[in-house]
Amino acid sequence: MKRSLPRSTRSSATRCWVVRKPSGWLAAVTLCSLVSGALPVLAAAPSASIEAESSAGILAMEAERYDEALNHFRRAVALAPRDPTLQRNLAVAYHNAAIALATAGQMDTAVRYAKSAVSLLPDDQDFRASLSRLLAQQGRDLVGRGRYPQARLLLQEALRYDSRNANALVTLGFAAYYTQQLMQARNYWRQASALQPGEVSMRQLLKQLDQELDFESKFTRAMAFRFDIRLEPGLAQELAQPVGEWLTEARRVIGNDLQFFPKQQVVVLVYRLESFRQLRQEVPEWVAGRYDGKIRLPWDPSSGEAALRQITWHEYTHAVVQGLTNGRCPLWLNEGLAEWEGAKQLAIPLTALREALAKQPAGVIPFAQLSESFQWSARADQVTLAYEQSYSIVQLLIDRYGLYRLRRLLRRLNDGVTIDEALQAEYRLSLGELQALWLKSVAKTLAAPAPSS
Ligand SMILES: [Zn+2]
Repeated sequence: MKRSLPRSTRSSATRCWVVRKPSGWLAAVTLCSLVSGALPVLAAAPSASIEAESSAGILAMEAERYDEALNHFRRAVALAPRDPTLQRNLAVAYHNAAIALATAGQMDTAVRYAKSAVSLLPDDQDFRASLSRLLAQQGRDLVGRGRYPQARLLLQEALRYDSRNANALVTLGFAAYYTQQLMQARNYWRQASALQPGEVSMRQLLKQLDQELDFESKFTRAMAFRFDIRLEPGLAQELAQPVGEWLTEARRVIGNDLQFFPKQQVVVLVYRLESFRQLRQEVPEWVAGRYDGKIRLPWDPSSGEAALRQITWHEYTHAVVQGLTNGRCPLWLNEGLAEWEGAKQLAIPLTALREALAKQPAGVIPFAQLSESFQWSARADQVTLAYEQSYSIVQLLIDRYGLYRLRRLLRRLNDGVTIDEALQAEYRLSLGELQALWLKSVAKTLAAPAPSS
């Protein structure tokens, strides 16, 4: 299922703070006349070379050639270490370079530069806030990948530079939420909400959390290797053992298929069917399991063990895809893969797809609309078709090109390229060409009438 963790919004999160103080730094430079050579430290160094370095630095800054500007300002500061204007210019150069690097996705260097700016001017609130945002952005990326302990360290550091960084608090809340530390999540989200009282989504999140806290704190905890399994009271507690075994097996097989093994424990909540429906009233009936940063399994023994194993594998695949791509995998591919892994436990009949193909013209969903077809507001028969179609496409990609290429496709998505670019690069196919290829292939394999009932 679709998960609710905010996707990494590298560019937009950066954009909101790209305030390069257009008048600020230049004004600061021109305000203090370096040419005067009035500062006492200048006695030891020729003012002309300080001025030359400073002017060259300013020109480089104007042209956004930050490394060059940094070199000039560093040399100027070395010549006049106590000149506050030169120090400020150097700090601004570090700061603006950090912003440019973050925009280009070079987060580690960006953070290093932003720290240099702060170490030159430790009390500058703008520099501190920028550094805090960068750290929060890195923390958010790690939370998206399920690397919670590392994320927490960065987010706490972000708060040390700016205690009013609401994004850092929200993300810390998610790191706690996904590890089922619900009280902690509530504390962080309440603090964030106090900083942004108008934020409606935060209030909704807190409302949902209050309900879950009330309910899920009564669950019993049964650990399995790499999984933190919690069962609702009222369910047979010995369920934890088979669920743990299925998940452990899923981790091994799916991990091998996709070459990815989440480092952190994955939280798995097992609900009584009625409680799940009550707690998640917005979720339609057809939802048999859910992954939203945690695996949620409504336990319906009437569906049989193979179906329950299939759901468990399906949801665990989502956890792996999330860790691999940080939410950048299109829904159709994500669901198709989850179905492909789930089908190892229980075959998927493809009845809806056969029926759609039997129509003239074929009633399949156009690829460009496939991801939207999983919406909870969609008709159940359309959703079934979307699952079968996505599964069938993934099956074709794997049968024809192998798992190796699919793994590379996922890595490309993780690097931030679009699905069209990734398909083109990996398979030399556009989305339209893939659709045509798939239609041709299923028309052959599924043309035969469905097994008689
Ligand atoms: Zn799913």
